[in-house]
Amino acid sequence: MSADIRPSLDLDACVEHLRGLIRIPSVNPPGGGPDVAAGRDPRGGETAAARYCAEVLSGDGIEAEVIELTEGRGSVVARLRANGPATDPPLILLSHIDVVPVDAESWTRDPFGGELVDGMVWGRGAVDMKNMVAMELGVMLALKRSGAELRRDVIFAAVADEEAGGEHGARGLVEQRPELFHDADGRPAAAAVNEVGGYSMTIGDHRFYTVQVAEKGIAWTRVRTTGTPGHGSMPHPDNAAIKLANAVAAIAADQATRPMRIIPVVADFLSGIGLADVAELAERDPEAASAALEAAVDDPVLRRSIDAMLRDTVTPNVVHAGKKVNVIPGAGEAEIDVRTLPGTDQAALLAHLQGVVGNDATVESVVSLPAVEWPADAEIVDLMHQALRAADPEGTSVPMMITPGTDAKALAQIGIPCYGFAPLRLDPDVPFLSVFHGHDERIPVSALAFGLPVLADVVARYATRG
Ligand SMILES: [Zn+2]
Repeated sequence: MSADIRPSLDLDACVEHLRGLIRIPSVNPPGGGPDVAAGRDPRGGETAAARYCAEVLSGDGIEAEVIELTEGRGSVVARLRANGPATDPPLILLSHIDVVPVDAESWTRDPFGGELVDGMVWGRGAVDMKNMVAMELGVMLALKRSGAELRRDVIFAAVADEEAGGEHGARGLVEQRPELFHDADGRPAAAAVNEVGGYSMTIGDHRFYTVQVAEKGIAWTRVRTTGTPGHGSMPHPDNAAIKLANAVAAIAADQATRPMRIIPVVADFLSGIGLADVAELAERDPEAASAALEAAVDDPVLRRSIDAMLRDTVTPNVVHAGKKVNVIPGAGEAEIDVRTLPGTDQAALLAHLQGVVGNDATVESVVSLPAVEWPADAEIVDLMHQALRAADPEGTSVPMMITPGTDAKALAQIGIPCYGFAPLRLDPDVPFLSVFHGHDERIPVSALAFGLPVLADVVARYATRG
């Protein structure tokens, strides 16, 4: 049995906290770029956002610690303790308070205005992921106000630096302060609720919700070439720019033919959304699988997102060679974003890429983080599916793997499963995946009105005694 804390929720306050957080430009990397050009100084933004959360929590008697592993790069952690001895290990409500930079010229509204217009909250972080910070704050406050008895600690952790790898946030905290994620007996948390999952998507005329149980691995890779410098007026073939261009082109051509591989969670996801044929075709006839996907899914962003679940991806994104138009360059360098499915041997994939580029370039690993995957039948995952079904009986909830990386990789280092579950009900015409890191990021209040009680329901069922 568990308590129902939903009567203690305050949606209006949640929306105001989202707007308040958006008005704090906690941009990562801090201290430069278009924010300064727009007359704002975002240095210390993460600490300011962490303090905002700490003040909201302490206003309701929940003590919160603001932790700066690096000056100005604050995170905030707070804990509601189990009543009496904790029966079960903690639950973490995880989020990040940093946001990616904006190109303010391309926005319709002030990206740091937190404006509420026609039922839509606008601003950087509205989707990624101050919406979830505000919802998790709301759930902490409701837990406290309801007086519900807890059978496990509930930990609120809104951290810095997710958008740049987490050294100043989750990764640093896991390494330097692991006890933040343990209970008094030293048991690591049983689960964390995190971003990228829980939202609805419409395919055909049906609404699907995702519960994210896995994320792809990251293998950031560098390709280097060398050549013989010389005067641009006297060309010779040992040109690092040409060699680099050839290497990048070879990598792109190889990607176009990379085989598909269906892992179990993706098979379940595809069959859950009515695309069992894509799963069935993928490994033996990838072209037919792509055609089936194209026919079934109109939204090109969603289609790309699904396609990237079907194989390892290799994307050249940074290419540098040469400094001057009349100088043949002696060195070139490209950065390649490699994302791997659970089960892919990253070293073997890099060795394959070395074979693809041949002897004129060298392939080296820069960052290597394996994929993470957690049991899709865990108790909290069941509760997530149940809560979604109860709140939207017409919708269908399915397990999912995401293709980007999150702080889940940091918590995985200390054995804590992270589940992506920011529940949001979205109308089909509301842009969502496309505004992650995009222009005109915004979220409907109605999505929060749906999500806040769903999240509270899951947390209460998982963490309270009846
Ligand atoms: Zn995020």
